[in-house]
Amino acid sequence: MSTRNQQLFERAQRHIPGGVNSPVRAFHSVGGTPCFFSRGYGSRVIDADKKTYIDYVGSWGPLILGHAHPEVVTAVQEAAALGLSFGAPTECEVEMADLLCTLLPSLEMVRLVSSGTEATMSAIRLARGFTGRDVLIKFEGCYHGHSDSLLVKAGSGMLTFGNPSSAGVPADLAQHTLVLDYNDAAQLEQVFAEHGERIAAVIVEPVVGNMNLIAPKQEFLQTMREQCTKYGTVLIFDEVMTGFRVGLECAQGYYGITPDLPTLGKVIGGGMPVGAFGGKREIMKKIAPLGSVYQAGTLSGNPVAVAAGLATLKLVQAPGFYEMLRQKTTLLCEGLCAVAKKHGVDFSAQSVGGMFGLYFRSSCPQSYVEVMACDKEAFNRFFHAMLNAGHYFAPSAFEAGFVSAAHSDADIAETVAAADAAFTSEHFL
Ligand SMILES: *Cc1c(COP(=O)(O)O)cnc(C)c1O
Repeated sequence: MSTRNQQLFERAQRHIPGGVNSPVRAFHSVGGTPCFFSRGYGSRVIDADKKTYIDYVGSWGPLILGHAHPEVVTAVQEAAALGLSFGAPTECEVEMADLLCTLLPSLEMVRLVSSGTEATMSAIRLARGFTGRDVLIKFEGCYHGHSDSLLVKAGSGMLTFGNPSSAGVPADLAQHTLVLDYNDAAQLEQVFAEHGERIAAVIVEPVVGNMNLIAPKQEFLQTMREQCTKYGTVLIFDEVMTGFRVGLECAQGYYGITPDLPTLGKVIGGGMPVGAFGGKREIMKKIAPLGSVYQAGTLSGNPVAVAAGLATLKLVQAPGFYEMLRQKTTLLCEGLCAVAKKHGVDFSAQSVGGMFGLYFRSSCPQSYVEVMACDKEAFNRFFHAMLNAGHYFAPSAFEAGFVSAAHSDADIAETVAAADAAFTSEHFL
């Protein structure tokens, strides 16, 4: 007899490509049937078969307060009752812009959009318009949304321009993007020495959360800042994931590096579609209607979405919020490492603020090559053992995980105990 999840997945595949509206949801990497969720509250989610899980995905980062936080839900309900969208300015957008510029010193002006993809795509267009240059540097394994210039992988040799990583991206466009190795400061310096005058922007995840979690070397970010300043290149910190996730000051404050244009998303919408890009006034004045770089959105700054974001950002400013989140996330990583060690499993884990990485490898990776060398099959077995026990981790060995303020220490202890059992269960062995 098939489960309700299986029935829904079969039905979904009839009219939705792969049965999902975003690829990683399909469980292709781990195999099996995706959970169709019907409800979330706090640290928990419930699927179509009425099974409850402790959730370590949190909608891929936005749900820093957990699911359906009462204050966020109320803010959304109140905003919705006043009108869903106007396509005209509203006061809450001004409040959001003021708040973001107060919290982040790198922001002098900010524009709201509806997704992280839009934020990074627009920031790149702006950087190109501002500098009058075309070349873009990105790093292998970083994800910045799915706009054409960013779906690019490294060319055949070092210092060659990129190739499309998706069908449908013109090779001509990919050739404007140089793909370098994350955490390799020497390579970055070499590329600037050769192409510096042509580089419009460097875009980077200041902590990578899209090839599992890779922490930056301080020297890498420092070199990036220095080279960008030296060559008049715009430094874009893509903080769509790290923004208000690693701390109230975001990754830029955490590492003490000021980008020219930060992008935001995920947490700033609290589960609703909000993205943002902004930075120096001098650069932002290039955006229409003030300047010649075009960017627009029918639902940009949507009042219901912004209400969710404002309610979320209000709560994360509570004293001690990020210290509490950091402690919970550390507790999870240390607990999992301890039980893995007990069972002799090659495993490591680390966290930055409220995001974490789990690796089936003896030490935490520092590069794309190292992360790719993790034991993916071991992860997949762990994933299914944990899913079976009611603990929902990202369905891929190459995604970061997230802890919310709603996760209690007891939740985390439950997950660690489940991992202890999982490492000896039939699913894992
Ligand atoms: C999620 C993410 C994006 C894309 O955001 P969407 O809202 O999915 O378009 C861009 N950059 C980073 C770093 C992300 O984690």
